[in-house]
Amino acid sequence: MSVDLREEWIDLLGRRPSLADTLAIYTDVFEAWARWTVPHPVALDWNAERCALDWERGTPLLAGAPPTLDPHEVEDVVGASMDALARVRGDTAEIRRFAQAWDRGAIALRDLLPLPGRLGSEALERATGLGAPAIGFLAATCLRPILEAYFSSVREHLADGQWDRAVCPFCGGPPGFSDVIEDGRRRLACHLCGGGWFSSPTRCAYCGADAARGLVHLEPEEREEGYAIAACRRCRGYVKELDRRVRWNGRSALVEDWGSPHFDLVARRAGYWRGLPSLIDVTARR
Ligand SMILES: [Zn+2]
Ligand SMILES: [Zn+2]
Repeated sequence: MSVDLREEWIDLLGRRPSLADTLAIYTDVFEAWARWTVPHPVALDWNAERCALDWERGTPLLAGAPPTLDPHEVEDVVGASMDALARVRGDTAEIRRFAQAWDRGAIALRDLLPLPGRLGSEALERATGLGAPAIGFLAATCLRPILEAYFSSVREHLADGQWDRAVCPFCGGPPGFSDVIEDGRRRLACHLCGGGWFSSPTRCAYCGADAARGLVHLEPEEREEGYAIAACRRCRGYVKELDRRVRWNGRSALVEDWGSPHFDLVARRAGYWRGLPSLIDVTARR
């Protein structure tokens, strides 16, 4: 099983030609995802009851059962994400330290996984000197095919209303994008594992504030029908949102998110942050 978003991505680039140069860094990432595979089963085999035990306690599954893959089984996707970061930042000492630490086994897949309140381990930060935005970018560009395969068998166990936290019920990652679907419900998407969960459309995806307590919709100057930025004056977090009732031909949440850095720029300039760093956060450096 692999994650093949190449066609969707090419379609999106065609729709936003002015961004094609900026977004070219992702092309090799999508290629690496599409060819990623391992010669043995990787899926977590928990049944619905076992998953429910964690979800009832508010614990994402990954916290109690992180995937264990050999470094050589993931180095193709990790290498592609490192190359993408180098194309954004230039060949920096931090990125070289990452490559060296990986090669000598000082850091591994476990160091890129989401942890409560952070992306990637402190050991990874110490070993490389990379900041939180860069580590978040690495996680976002390498984990998807691995974690999507890992959680493929437990997806169906999550029932509506079983999870109401602000992180992914499967991997614990922050919301990457928000979709308003046909029936008006809001589904938050996790880019790290491809999971999703429902959340109130009238509340902040991070702190739960409603409109009375600070949830606003920013209006980019260049308006595109169906696209919005749901931002929160209380915690200053934002998530981009696509109303699928208006924009029925929209692509996957991840493709729509990566394909709209111009909206991240608007949000960032207005002083808002997002849980999963965007290209703009990495370009801007620390
Ligand atoms: Zn996830
Ligand atoms: Zn908030």
